[in-house]
Amino acid sequence: MFIGGAWREASDGRTIDVLDPATEQLVAQVPNASDADLDDALAAAAAGFEVWRRTPPADRAEVLDRAGRLLIERSSAIAAVLTEEQGKPVAEAEAEVRQSAEYLSWFAGEAVRSYGRLLPTGPGHRAWVERRPIGPVAAFTAWNFPASLPARKLAPAVAYGCSIIVCPAIEAPRTAAGLVRALADAGVPDGVVNLVTGDPPRVSERLIGSGAIAKVTLTGSVPVGQTLVRLSAERLQPLTLELGGHAPVLVFDDLSDEQLGRTADAVVRAKFRNAGQVCISPSRIFVQRSMVDDFVAAVIERVDGLEIGPLANARRREAVAELVHSSRAKVHCGGVKPDGPGFFYPPTVLTDLPADAAVLRDEPFGPIMPILPFDGLEDGIAQANAVPYGLAAYVFTADLQRADVAVAGLEAGMIGVNEVALASAASPFGGVKLSGYGREGGTESLEAYTVATAVTTKGA
Ligand code: NAD
Repeated sequence: MFIGGAWREASDGRTIDVLDPATEQLVAQVPNASDADLDDALAAAAAGFEVWRRTPPADRAEVLDRAGRLLIERSSAIAAVLTEEQGKPVAEAEAEVRQSAEYLSWFAGEAVRSYGRLLPTGPGHRAWVERRPIGPVAAFTAWNFPASLPARKLAPAVAYGCSIIVCPAIEAPRTAAGLVRALADAGVPDGVVNLVTGDPPRVSERLIGSGAIAKVTLTGSVPVGQTLVRLSAERLQPLTLELGGHAPVLVFDDLSDEQLGRTADAVVRAKFRNAGQVCISPSRIFVQRSMVDDFVAAVIERVDGLEIGPLANARRREAVAELVHSSRAKVHCGGVKPDGPGFFYPPTVLTDLPADAAVLRDEPFGPIMPILPFDGLEDGIAQANAVPYGLAAYVFTADLQRADVAVAGLEAGMIGVNEVALASAASPFGGVKLSGYGREGGTESLEAYTVATAVTTKGA
């Protein structure tokens, strides 16, 4: 753990095991924070905030920029750790670390652009709105992107003058330590950035329940989001919640053979990246009825022989196997848990799903691709919106007018038209409905990590 500028073990010496999901072997033991450690982190974050809020934005920018460059230099080493503890292929891990560096350098630029606003007033008056850092932040991140999820929270917090305590998922905590080390080596003052590892429910209760936390941010599941909302009810800390999704894809029948091939490439790539454990992963593929057979054939051709990493843990694999088993769908490929060590599950393509299949309702978070027919724009939009989530949605069509109507009708925080790459430092990431609220990334982060203070003055 990194608390108040020092790396340390848990005060009572307790640890938590970290496994390699590809082998199920123990790869590390990390500290299991005691209440005393968490209280130290809270005190450190309070002290760090007092220093950092007074640090000129240009100096904050310099630290972030340096940290971004250090991350790039160290990307191979950090990616190796990421793969070992989370399971995604090394190339994906390295791309994730590089994207995390992009968050740091992009927000270095934003640090000096946290503009306020001058209000129109009558003579003798002046009034303006200034943006102040909100205060010490408690950040909780899931295991699916152990580098980029902490980066998406660390970068704006540090840019806008907050301090932060990061509690990464216990499945993959050492990757976040790599990010924090880069920030520390880049010269972030003691207490501004802190990292604690431990049992997340206990950590969140202690941190959010204390008087020292001004803001809570989580990337995780809906139930955990709801728990954090309840914990914050006492002190009314604002929250940013990114709680997963169940992304629909609409594939229209106006695509040429070549365009259909490119669509299948993109959907297969997006679906099976990180073994499907991605909150914006396409998870309900609606294809206009006359094209279903062609699309299924194109997908099977691309999935055949595709190798993917393991799921993050045994719990995830059980959940995925149960979703496939209970769907009573036609299984075109995959669908069988392999023997041997590691939490592997093959890419699985399903058709002929009953409307009440759990996989169409619950976020699959695994390598399952259900393909379903739709009958026209309105029907497609209605089916796409028929879940309580609204994070990402995708449209594939050669007709941009059609795309515009679909985009206007889709309930989602992020929409791709003939495009599956939706996350970037400049783009606000977040959803609607049960996918949560608030945005991280883009200039919208200013809302999340600062408060607007309105000042009105006139002569005495
Ligand atoms: P989970 O709900 O047990 O945990 C999700 C994450 O939240 C964990 O990484 C953990 O570190 C953290 N967490 C758990 N309890 C917490 C608490 N009380 N306080 C603070 N943090 C806490 O989920 P899981 O079994 O790991 O995954 C199940 C589902 O979670 C998936 O099917 C998916 O729907 C969702 N999920 C979403 C995302 C995302 O990117 N939004 C990421 C991972 C998981």
